[in-house]
Amino acid sequence: MAEAVEAVDRERSKLEKRLRSVKTSTISSLSELTSELTQLQESIRRNGDGEEMSCEQNNLLLQSLELVRDGVGKLSGEHKDIHGSISKVGRAIDRNFTSDIHVCSQDNVLDSPEQASMLNEVVYEHFLRQGQMAVAKCLIEEAGVVVDQAHHSQYVQLNCILEACKARNLSPALSWASKHRDALEAHNSQLEFKLHRLQFLSLLQAGDLRAALDYSKNLALYSTSFRKEVQQLMGCFLYISRGLGQSPYAELLHSRLWEEVCDDFMHEACAIHGLALNSHLAACLSVGCQALPSLLQIKAVMQQRQCPDMWISMNELPIDIDPGLKFQYHAVFACPILRQQCTAENPPMRLTCGHVISKEAINRLVAGIRLKCPYCPVEMTSDEPRQIYF
Ligand SMILES: [Zn+2]
Repeated sequence: MAEAVEAVDRERSKLEKRLRSVKTSTISSLSELTSELTQLQESIRRNGDGEEMSCEQNNLLLQSLELVRDGVGKLSGEHKDIHGSISKVGRAIDRNFTSDIHVCSQDNVLDSPEQASMLNEVVYEHFLRQGQMAVAKCLIEEAGVVVDQAHHSQYVQLNCILEACKARNLSPALSWASKHRDALEAHNSQLEFKLHRLQFLSLLQAGDLRAALDYSKNLALYSTSFRKEVQQLMGCFLYISRGLGQSPYAELLHSRLWEEVCDDFMHEACAIHGLALNSHLAACLSVGCQALPSLLQIKAVMQQRQCPDMWISMNELPIDIDPGLKFQYHAVFACPILRQQCTAENPPMRLTCGHVISKEAINRLVAGIRLKCPYCPVEMTSDEPRQIYF
């Protein structure tokens, strides 16, 4: 994949160079032509009323006309050449990326009305998650998505708070945080302190010392848990006249702090309200893009060996993909032997070798009191596996 991107990027940078050189030469030819024509115009303007153009002016006119004709011809030739370079980039994309990913898809997956409505729902959720309420509303109307009103308004509320944070208005986030203080504390969250810190810094930056001093009472709550940070904030008062930007605390003015607080807010709010942090659609798309190159390779091999229908009949991917930490969810554990989600009655058990399978799978595998791990050669007694908790 990286090579494909590089190959296209090489063509793109060639095109960019070409465009730059055409731009420079176009500007210089146009200004040459303009100055030629301006000279002619000036010279004609100097003629008296009713005076005919002199022979010299006539020659100049003819000369200019020829220059313009040549110049414009040259420019349009260069313009045509650019089209060639642009289509080269297009061809590089075609050559380096497989456009026909249809071979990896299953045609009938979205055929039934239930499946189609599930797809609409996941698209609707995505827009909701992205805060694109108008698009989500349009989808509800046009695709007839059935909406859980409470769920919808929760997202609307969170997005309003987030938008306000981005616009540097912290009041809605602060009142949300104070309402959910217990839950935030249970998560060891620093969100509320970070919000107060930014609010305090905003007042300082606005030069409202009185208000900043009053607001610092809100920070007193954190003088033990965030001792160093609170000391730094108090230290800021010393540098007001010189400007915080020139103080040892200049870092506190970085826009990164705002981005961080927006991220923290969404993280905590989704966890507290039981909402998914990542859009399911975005997660599927990202994992799908990662899996696609390997799938295309496998498909090609399968077709060569003439077993093209093999994986259509399978309900899972024929390869392991590593979607990265961002998409690791620990809330559930599926037993790799029974291929079922573990429950309180059938909990996950850790074998002495470190492999984890469900209790019921152990019951099925145990022979007498001996148990052999299904994944490695380690043997143990049936009372050795320990239950694990996620
Ligand atoms: Zn093992």
